[in-house]
Amino acid sequence: MGRLGSAEAVEELRVVDSAFVRSWVEEIARSIEDQRDFLTQLDAAIGDADHGVNMSRGFTAVSMKLTEGAGDGLAPGPLMTLVGSTLVSTVGGASGPLYGTAFRRAGKALDDEADVDAASFGAALRAALEGIQQLGAAAEGDKTMVDALAPAVAAFESSVRRGASFADAASDAREAGEEGMLATVPLQARKGRASYLGPRSVGHQDPGATSTVLILAALERVAKAG
Ligand code: ADP
Ligand code: MG
Repeated sequence: MGRLGSAEAVEELRVVDSAFVRSWVEEIARSIEDQRDFLTQLDAAIGDADHGVNMSRGFTAVSMKLTEGAGDGLAPGPLMTLVGSTLVSTVGGASGPLYGTAFRRAGKALDDEADVDAASFGAALRAALEGIQQLGAAAEGDKTMVDALAPAVAAFESSVRRGASFADAASDAREAGEEGMLATVPLQARKGRASYLGPRSVGHQDPGATSTVLILAALERVAKAG
């Protein structure tokens, strides 16, 4: 081992900073734009066909804020809080307050730390999930974004406990989130607009679980690049 082994270990992403969070948010915005029509189609089947539009409006506003310099000089936590507040104030529908709360809670959990390690980031993801569940009262199996986020958070945490790098933890989270998202298809919705359809909500993928996976996949890409 010796030199080479430790040099490789140093290259692994162990902490993330404001620039990382910014890249993540910008990657989310690009991905939401790219998948906007798909998210809307999913919501057309079991909702009111606005999820893509809602998410796009929110993350476009976030991008504009960042371009205008509103996030300059902010630590990762306050930056995520800014993202959350922007989502709450620009996105109508259930997803705005839910994702807004998620980012705000995550931001609060990170406090003013400049360099966030994977364990702290995992705790922030956990806080985000708790915020969503407090506000929306959805449990796993209710066919919502919680079905993607809950297993993703658990996977991120367990990877970190095993000593995985940030990128590997993010990969595991995305993978678990994707499984959770796919598992929403046969479920009957018990929360949100889709629940009004009762048994007719069965057989469709939940839009919010899908946008959650886009957010996790963006995290994975940025972590692998960094
Ligand atoms: P709306 O349903 O108000 O039109 P969106 O279409 O933007 O809002 O978002 C719909 C998504 O929000 C759903 O696919 C679901 O994942 C999520 N959602 C709805 N209600 C809840 C809830 N109570 N808890 C968690 N997620 C929810
Ligand atoms: Mg909708």
